[in-house]
Amino acid sequence: MAERPLTLMAVHAHPDDEATSTGGVLARYAAEGVTTVLVTCTDGRCGDGAGGVKPGDPGHDPAAVVAMRQAELEASCAALKVTHLETLGYGDSGMMGWPTNDQPGSFWSTPVAEAADRLAELIRRYRPDVVVTYDENGFYGHPDHIQAHRITMAAVAQTDVAAKVYWTTVPRTAFEDFGRIMKELGIEWADPDPSSPEPALGLPDDEISTWVDTKAYGDQKFDALAAHASQTENIFFLQLGRERFTELMGVETFVRVRDTTDAPLPEDDLFAGLR
Ligand SMILES: [Zn+2]
Repeated sequence: MAERPLTLMAVHAHPDDEATSTGGVLARYAAEGVTTVLVTCTDGRCGDGAGGVKPGDPGHDPAAVVAMRQAELEASCAALKVTHLETLGYGDSGMMGWPTNDQPGSFWSTPVAEAADRLAELIRRYRPDVVVTYDENGFYGHPDHIQAHRITMAAVAQTDVAAKVYWTTVPRTAFEDFGRIMKELGIEWADPDPSSPEPALGLPDDEISTWVDTKAYGDQKFDALAAHASQTENIFFLQLGRERFTELMGVETFVRVRDTTDAPLPEDDLFAGLR
């Protein structure tokens, strides 16, 4: 049908986000001949340093963290066979309320229009048929994830290139399975607190439009996450081991928020209606 291969663009906040929420689709679609483009917006300088040293603690050198995480990102992209990696290089803003939110060059303090223009340029260059990013809460409220959402939606609107746009999500039932298996394995796990003022994570199953089976690519997703093993929260997932990891994280789920194909919902393919 098309002269050029189909193209998937995933826009993420930090090095490692590509592996956790879209590692399966990046690997699967690359294997199917789709051109995959990963845009990572920040340098991850607020992540853990070597040896697990936390930002602000003695020995946490942001420049060294940036270099380490760039190398990890490249290794993750190699595991997922990402065709093109683009980094926007904004400063990691840290968690909501951290002084790094307002540091010069931080992603959070960058005007949306300014960063959206840079992303729009990449969209015009790569012409993605499908774009994936986060929901308006950045899935869990991290400022850089919220900002990635905002610039992506602005860039999508101003370019009018992508036929389909998706937000990553997790089914509520998956959290329940996760908690159960973590407890079985004796891994520390806090169940979601229903009285918390934060919005609940994920969505009820019937609000999820798109379920993509990526179990055949579980090893690649695991390897991508393992490439980011300097980050404590990833070690947490790696404790599952490959088999359980793929069982629990082998279906990636999305909400379709833009569509020009009229592919019926629910669907099991981000490219449904395009091939
Ligand atoms: Zn992140």
